[in-house]
Amino acid sequence: MQIVSKIWMDGKFVCWNKAKTHILTHTLHYGAGVFEGIRFYETDNGQAIFRLDEHLERLFYSAKKIGLEIPYTKNQLETAILKLIKINKLKSGYIRPLAYYGYGKMGIDPRGCPTNVSIAIWPWGVYLSDKPARCKISPFIRLHPKSVHNEAKVCGHYINSIVARLNIDLDQHDEVILFDHKNHLAEGSAENIFIVKNGVLFTPKPGSILIGITRDTVMVLARDARIPCEEKDITKQELLAADEVFFAGTAAEISPIASIDGHYFGNGETGPLSQKIKNTYAALTRGKIDKYKDWLTFL
Ligand code: PMP
Repeated sequence: MQIVSKIWMDGKFVCWNKAKTHILTHTLHYGAGVFEGIRFYETDNGQAIFRLDEHLERLFYSAKKIGLEIPYTKNQLETAILKLIKINKLKSGYIRPLAYYGYGKMGIDPRGCPTNVSIAIWPWGVYLSDKPARCKISPFIRLHPKSVHNEAKVCGHYINSIVARLNIDLDQHDEVILFDHKNHLAEGSAENIFIVKNGVLFTPKPGSILIGITRDTVMVLARDARIPCEEKDITKQELLAADEVFFAGTAAEISPIASIDGHYFGNGETGPLSQKIKNTYAALTRGKIDKYKDWLTFL
């Protein structure tokens, strides 16, 4: 299933079918790797990557949290990403940088393992669903902040999202929502979450969430549009009493939520504020709003 021609691995552009790693790669066993998910879009001035700098910044931040030294600079990775998009001739899609402890040492402690870095890209359309998502609250809680650096984007942390996802029936639900150890709303399996109540936007405070770049984008858009937006602890009662709810994430972009545990918000259609933010996000990522062009890295 070859999707594009080349993948970048440790400084070289290799053929899709040759992008392989040894079975004793440390991260494959224990999950100590870090990654990013970035989108690039087609604009009137060619392809543009959305908030590349912030994503690379977070990649290095996450790496530091697990003692992983990335043997490249941010600039080198940026150059590799730009070249990779050109070589593969994709108009739009998803970029997946991955840095991991490689082959050379077994045992839990990764110190002494070599570090490998790869970057793959592929086309990726709608992540969740075209229609507002039907969601379920997970019986699993989001990773405890005293168990891991839960704000870092670490491969192994995704077992939390995976068990939560596996617990939903895909005929009935599009996505799962996790609460945290204090019974406050946290996030979706791969998205941050916002609620709207009486014209005000609320989103969970940092503490149990991945501090998303789309989340930050929404907060900036709200500020610029003079829509009040607050970070706060949100209870299940507050979530279910919301006027509108939506997810925000690189893959999911702005994805409105129709229902949670069978409780519908309004008539289950996208609410007006969610629609406004969804439209603005779609426009700015495609280079249609001058004010936000600084967020785009053109090829
Ligand atoms: N939470 C989790 C667990 C995620 O995997 C993601 C996707 N990276 C997000 C939130 C949203 O983050 P971002 O907007 O930076 O993509």
